[in-house]
Amino acid sequence: MALFTPSFSFKISASSSPRRCRFVKSPRSFKLRAAVAVESPSFSSADRDGAPKLLLEVKDLSAVIVESKQPILKGVNLTVHEGEVLNFRLITQSILLFLWDAEGGLMYFVTIMADKEIEVHAVMGKNGSGKSTFAKVLVGHPDYEITGGSITYKGQDLLEMEPEERALAGLFMSFQSPVEIPGVSNIDFLNMAYNARRRKLGLPELGPIEFYGYVAPKLEIVNMKIDFLNRNVNEGFSGGERKRNEILQLAVLGAELAILDEIDSGLDVDALRDVAKAVNGLLTPNNSVLMITHYLRLLEFIKPTFIHIMENGRIVKTGDISIAEILEREGYKAISNT
Ligand code: ADP
Ligand code: MG
Repeated sequence: MALFTPSFSFKISASSSPRRCRFVKSPRSFKLRAAVAVESPSFSSADRDGAPKLLLEVKDLSAVIVESKQPILKGVNLTVHEGEVLNFRLITQSILLFLWDAEGGLMYFVTIMADKEIEVHAVMGKNGSGKSTFAKVLVGHPDYEITGGSITYKGQDLLEMEPEERALAGLFMSFQSPVEIPGVSNIDFLNMAYNARRRKLGLPELGPIEFYGYVAPKLEIVNMKIDFLNRNVNEGFSGGERKRNEILQLAVLGAELAILDEIDSGLDVDALRDVAKAVNGLLTPNNSVLMITHYLRLLEFIKPTFIHIMENGRIVKTGDISIAEILEREGYKAISNT
C-alpha cells in the first residue's frame, strides 16, 4: 500500500527584543510571529467509526456507444476509498537567531506529520477491453449512454451530474489522446478552468498576473519550460509534452480523484520518470488515483494499492502488484478468465 507523508508546519518565534545583543538564551517573553506556513490537510477522511470513507463506488455499470448502441461496459464494479490518516507525529525543532541590531532569540518550528495511506488503483487489460470507455464514462463523456448500474461519488449520484459539475466536484481525467484547442493559449485555458474551480469554492478569481504567479512554479513539477504557457493547448506538442501538459492541468486544478489514462504511453524513460514523479508529488491527503496502464514500469514509480484487470467490459480480477508482474512475464492469458 502506498504510504504517503504529507506535512504542514508552523513556526513560533520567541523573542526577547534585546538591542545589540549577540546571543540570546531561552527568552522569557514569547511573541507569536508566524502562523501556518503550508496548507493544512483536511483530516476528515475517515468515518466516525474509523473506517475509510467511500470516494467512488461503481456498481454493475453498463454503457453503450450512443451512436451505434454497441455495448462496451458490461457490469463494472469498482470501489475507491479516500485516503486514511494512520497517525500524527510532532517534530519540534528550535534554532537560535543571531541578528545584530535586530530582535534575536529562539525560533521554534513545529511540524505535524500525518502518515496517510492513499488508494492508488491501476486498471490494466488488453486493447479494446473498455478501459478508456470506463474512464470517459466516469467524467461524463457524451459518446456513451449508461444502460444500467450506478456510480456514487462522495455520496452523490454521479450520473445525475453534468460533466462540468463532476470536474468541479474534484474529478479529473487526463486523456489518453489529449486534444488540441487551436486559438486558446495554455495559460488562458488553465486560468479559466482554475477560476471556475475557485468560483465553486466561493473564492475570488485570479487575474492574469496573479495566476501567472500561481502557475509558473508548477511548471517545475512537470519539467516544462515557461513558453509552454503561451502556446496553444497541445498544438504542435509532442506525445510526451501532451502528457506533461495533462499533469500540469492536474497540478493547477487539483483533484480528489485523478483518472490518468495511459499517462505512460509514448514516453521515453526519462519523461516517464518525470511524469511519475510529478504525479507522486501531487498526491495529497485528499486524493486517490485511478490509472490505466499497460506497463509494470509505471507501477514501479507510482505504487498501486490495487490492480484491476478489465476484460470485455468487466473487471474480472483484482489484486496487488503481483498481478502486473505475472502479466509482464506471461501475458494476459495467464490471468484471463476465458
Ligand atoms: P481500451 O481503452 O481498453 O483499449 P476502449 O474503451 O477505448 O478500450 O474501447 C473499447 C471498445 O469500444 C473498442 O472496440 C473501441 O473501438 C470501442 N469504442 C469505444 N469508444 C468508441 C466510440 N466513441 N465510437 C466507436 N467505438 C468506440
Ligand atoms: Mg484506452
